[in-house]
Amino acid sequence: MNNEINTKSNGSSAEPPGAKGVLECLRSSRQFVMCAHEKPDGDVLGSGFALGMALKRIGKDVVYFLDDDVPANLRFLPESQLTQRTFDGVADDAIFVFLDMSDQWRAGKALNWVPPERIINIDHHLGNHRFGRWNLVVESEAATGSLVLGLIVALGVPITSDIATCLLAAIISDTGCFMYSNADPHTIRLAASLMEAGAQKDRINEQLYQTRTFSGQKVLGRALDTATLTDDGICYSVVSRAMLEEFGATYEDLEDVVGALRAVDRCEVSALLKEAPDGTFRVSMRSRGRINVMAAAKKLGGGGHFRAAGATINATQDQALSAVLTAIRAEMAEGARAAG
Ligand code: 5GP
Ligand code: MN
Repeated sequence: MNNEINTKSNGSSAEPPGAKGVLECLRSSRQFVMCAHEKPDGDVLGSGFALGMALKRIGKDVVYFLDDDVPANLRFLPESQLTQRTFDGVADDAIFVFLDMSDQWRAGKALNWVPPERIINIDHHLGNHRFGRWNLVVESEAATGSLVLGLIVALGVPITSDIATCLLAAIISDTGCFMYSNADPHTIRLAASLMEAGAQKDRINEQLYQTRTFSGQKVLGRALDTATLTDDGICYSVVSRAMLEEFGATYEDLEDVVGALRAVDRCEVSALLKEAPDGTFRVSMRSRGRINVMAAAKKLGGGGHFRAAGATINATQDQALSAVLTAIRAEMAEGARAAG
């Protein structure tokens, strides 16, 4: 890919605030640790591997820290076999690159200790806490991968086909293969240039959207079968650990369920409550576009985007469900007030 493509934030000609500092740090430091959020997705991993490959090309030392397994459907990403769960080989002056998360806590317990002065924070979530010494946060970008592409181009590193595949996976993952409203012309232009650079679009889509475990499909069926649609347009379902065990499915298999619930014609907001292995509940919420589920998630101690958000709730199933419905309804009332 030629380096003349306009990767600037959503077509604006200005470099996003924060980019300069991040670039200076990337150029001047020696070692970087790529850090993902819990339940890593295509955006956080694709962004990390792409930036890691680019930094290696300019002679930097890179560690991919992941206190988790790479999800099966993302193991095709170049570098995915290099992630490590320990800090072996991480030097005292290493810089930690937190990707795709609005606060440091999202990276999980293993990364809580990292002090702000060693953190680069690259993100596109609403209400990012600017928790790093260097922060590149552009809420209007569809994916963190878009911001990483801008950084790699600015570093003067050529976009290899492997880098392009990782970044296109990031964009495809966060735009629902260009279906969501965040897939604006700017994002689609970036994606087109990544395809021109050799990104494997078909492979990415097959892995992200066309490949599911049989047990995962069974759990999807059960979650839809037991879903509730309320009169005020909330479509929700609960997946317990027992349900996962019954089908031999994993948490990772539940990716699509909340989207399938949102597809219901009378649904304004969908919610999926998932019982985590530690007994807490994770909620995923999706909005059809009128209700801000990020604000609802925030009330539950989480965050995300206007149309896609989540939180972790430490409560019994009934309490968690009730808290989720209350938070969504508060946002619905807020939306109704705002609409006059
Ligand atoms: P998902 O429902 O797919 O887990 O997450 C949807 C969106 O909300 C993603 O952008 C994700 O990063 C964000 N999100 C999910 N859970 C949390 C959370 O507990 N805290 C914050 N801040 N964001 C979350
Ligand atoms: Mn993202």
